[in-house]
Amino acid sequence: MKKEKVVVVGSGPAGLTAALYTARANLDPVVISGNQLGGQISITWEVENYPGFPEGTTGPELVELMQNHAERFGARIVVDEVTEVALTKGSPFRLKTHTEEYESQAVILCTGASPKRLGVPGEEEFIGKGVSFCATCDGFFFRDKEVVVVGGGDSAIEEGLFLTKFAQGVQIIHRRDELRANERLKDRAFSNKKISFIWDTVVEEIVGNGKVEALQVRNVKTNDLRQMDIDGVFIFIGHYPNSDLYKGQLEMDEVGYLIVDEKQMTSVPGVFAAGEIHDPRYRQIATSVGQGCAAGMMAERWVEEQE
Ligand code: NAP
Repeated sequence: MKKEKVVVVGSGPAGLTAALYTARANLDPVVISGNQLGGQISITWEVENYPGFPEGTTGPELVELMQNHAERFGARIVVDEVTEVALTKGSPFRLKTHTEEYESQAVILCTGASPKRLGVPGEEEFIGKGVSFCATCDGFFFRDKEVVVVGGGDSAIEEGLFLTKFAQGVQIIHRRDELRANERLKDRAFSNKKISFIWDTVVEEIVGNGKVEALQVRNVKTNDLRQMDIDGVFIFIGHYPNSDLYKGQLEMDEVGYLIVDEKQMTSVPGVFAAGEIHDPRYRQIATSVGQGCAAGMMAERWVEEQE
């Protein structure tokens, strides 16, 4: 059993910032990375709205910089995944990973969110065979192919724009006739010749034989069904919080977002949360960084008070 002052669970912008602040407070934090070091931004191609990078940057570059920064002050990043937590009995809290057991005075949960699924036939079956939730990871495989993006938010448009680097055509299927995405992204998408829109339409089934070959889609206004021949479908319809591990131990809303107070503290004193695990509203790198900073500072104060 490893005894720690602070364990940070998750290594996205919130986790790496909480690690930086607790490291600078000499709490010698351990960061359990989860299965994707850097979290969602590690698979984000363009980051245009993180302050300090006027020319924009990439997600992987930002992760590397944040990781180096936290490590420079002594944060220890462990590539592992938390599989079990015991939080309700109070501090010290217990956490199990695939390879280790930890006891920690304070815990900062930054496990973020994961892409939502459409829940239609063929979706699970064809993951990695034409169904993707990550344009940065899989776009390359669709050079000169015809792909569909599902969704109308910032992610769908941003990833759709990225896919135009490879694909011959990108058709964006949205369930309404108006995008949710911000104005700048909308302008870029509307003026991109490779992008076209299919409005008021939902995907009913993903069809193929060994790999994706077509989509069965329905117009929600006319109820007309039709089949579209395509090579790949990229799904960006939002996220759900990665909070299953804490069910029954921490207060959360009906969707599963953790409830925190103004000090980023969850319903269990000494357990803090930052980033998309508790934030369904802003979900920006900048806000996750801010919440990670606050959680780190409050965890430091909490550990000090206990001692
Ligand atoms: P989002 O804003 O929740 O958008 C999800 C989109 O998917 C919406 O257009 C929604 O349609 C559609 N949708 C949801 N469920 C669906 C279903 N079952 N079938 C079909 N369509 C469905 O999610 P997001 O785009 O991932 O963005 C999440 C957050 O991250 C937002 O706050 C966003 O601003 C932020 N973000 C920012 C940037 C950036 O600033 N560069 C980039 C990426 C993400 P409706 O519109 O009809 O609800």
